[in-house]
Amino acid sequence: MTVETKLNQFREISEKISAYSLALTTLNWDSSTIAPKKGASYRNKMAALLSGELFSIATSSEFVALIDDLSTETLDEVTTREIKQIKKNLDKNRFIPKEVYVEYAQLTRDAENVWETARDQQDYESFKPYLKKLIEMTKTVVSYRKDKRPVYEQLIDDFETGITIADYDVFFKKLKEEIVPFLHKIIDRKIEQPEWLCRNISIEKQRKVVEILMEYLNYDKSSGYIGESAHPFSSHFSVHDNRVTVRYHKDMFTSSIFALIHEVGHATYNGQVDEAYQGRAIADSMTYGMHESQSRLYENMLGRSHSFWSSIYPKVQAVVSELHDVTLDEFIQGINHVALSLIRIEADELTYPLHIMVRYEIEQALFNGTLDVEGLDNVWSDKYEEYLGIRPPHNGLGILQDIHWSGGAFGYFPTYALGSAYSAQWMGAMRKDIDVEKCLENNDFKSVNDWLKNNVHRHGGVYEPNELLLSVTGETFNPQYYVDYLIEKYSRLFIVSE
Ligand SMILES: [Zn+2]
Repeated sequence: MTVETKLNQFREISEKISAYSLALTTLNWDSSTIAPKKGASYRNKMAALLSGELFSIATSSEFVALIDDLSTETLDEVTTREIKQIKKNLDKNRFIPKEVYVEYAQLTRDAENVWETARDQQDYESFKPYLKKLIEMTKTVVSYRKDKRPVYEQLIDDFETGITIADYDVFFKKLKEEIVPFLHKIIDRKIEQPEWLCRNISIEKQRKVVEILMEYLNYDKSSGYIGESAHPFSSHFSVHDNRVTVRYHKDMFTSSIFALIHEVGHATYNGQVDEAYQGRAIADSMTYGMHESQSRLYENMLGRSHSFWSSIYPKVQAVVSELHDVTLDEFIQGINHVALSLIRIEADELTYPLHIMVRYEIEQALFNGTLDVEGLDNVWSDKYEEYLGIRPPHNGLGILQDIHWSGGAFGYFPTYALGSAYSAQWMGAMRKDIDVEKCLENNDFKSVNDWLKNNVHRHGGVYEPNELLLSVTGETFNPQYYVDYLIEKYSRLFIVSE
């Protein structure tokens, strides 16, 4: 068979995989937004059938042989990287004996159920044996790979290609040494949360604010759509179809708005990928950290800045009369309010990475054997007290707060913090090329989007994070940008009068 023929076969199967993925994305979007509840069981059954078909195609002996074969051929750069990524994913699971895989899948299903009850009953003891088993089984499953690096190192690499434990260690050490004491300085100032943040603002008015924002962000209705769902998310259908959802909170409208800006950041990333990659794995294979770097750039670095709001705040005030007595400066302070919190997903920008740091330190210790599940709830609470200055009153608000571990997702968590840190590095590079503040003040968000498109978005998932960072910013991942950004911003906002 000629290389050309093999490539044609590869493209044909890839397109079929994309077709199934598109169908499943559509079903998922539909069921999370508008689909009636009563139809759920039939819908889920059909979705499971489609998923099964997709799995069979993506792991068929024909496709696997083709990938093995193509990985030894000389191909163009993008295809070479695409094949390498697919092979890496296939190699993760192909050597695991079926019975081991089935046992692991069963364990995660059981553990998720047990976790849910345990969280509701604030009972770590009932989840503990499952956590122990999950760690053991994860080690077993990973041991079948040809890769001989330490298990946690491989898990880290699964979620963020090219990033190592050593990189994370440097990053979190920096946060611990510089951000923890800085946070306590801010907290000591005892700034109260402004009362206007919780004013009751009708959903109708919030929808109008969303319209203002969409126009400002250049989120185009011809290739986007805003739905409503219980948890905001974004969905990628194709380069020209990237949708987001919003959840309206009547008494916390900024929460609705910033979650939406975050999701539009994700959608814009997928929407600015080179059209030539459409239908290929490479169009959507960015790492978790990279994707989060774009949503957090939108939400925090741009979205919570003074220049972002300076041109649109009068329009927002015209719609939301409840903000008539809140000046722009007060608004900016309010949307950046820092509070001690127990729950990661409710945390502000400054405390957010510290929540992740707790989980990272524990995960790492669990996998290198320096910690055991015994008494882990206390270890968790101690760390919260030490870093965040607050102790969970019970385990439901502590170690049991997130679902991730029960699904076996170890090594995934740190990517949440990494995304924010990357985004500070992108901002540094963007500022060298364009006057970001001026663009925002002049209602010219397009220049920001264009910069992101040309430097980051258009490449889709072709490059590893460190490769792209190096080529655009001149350095591989450097957490100093993030630490400097946080300290500069929050000093300016809250310690300036000292
Ligand atoms: Zn996100």
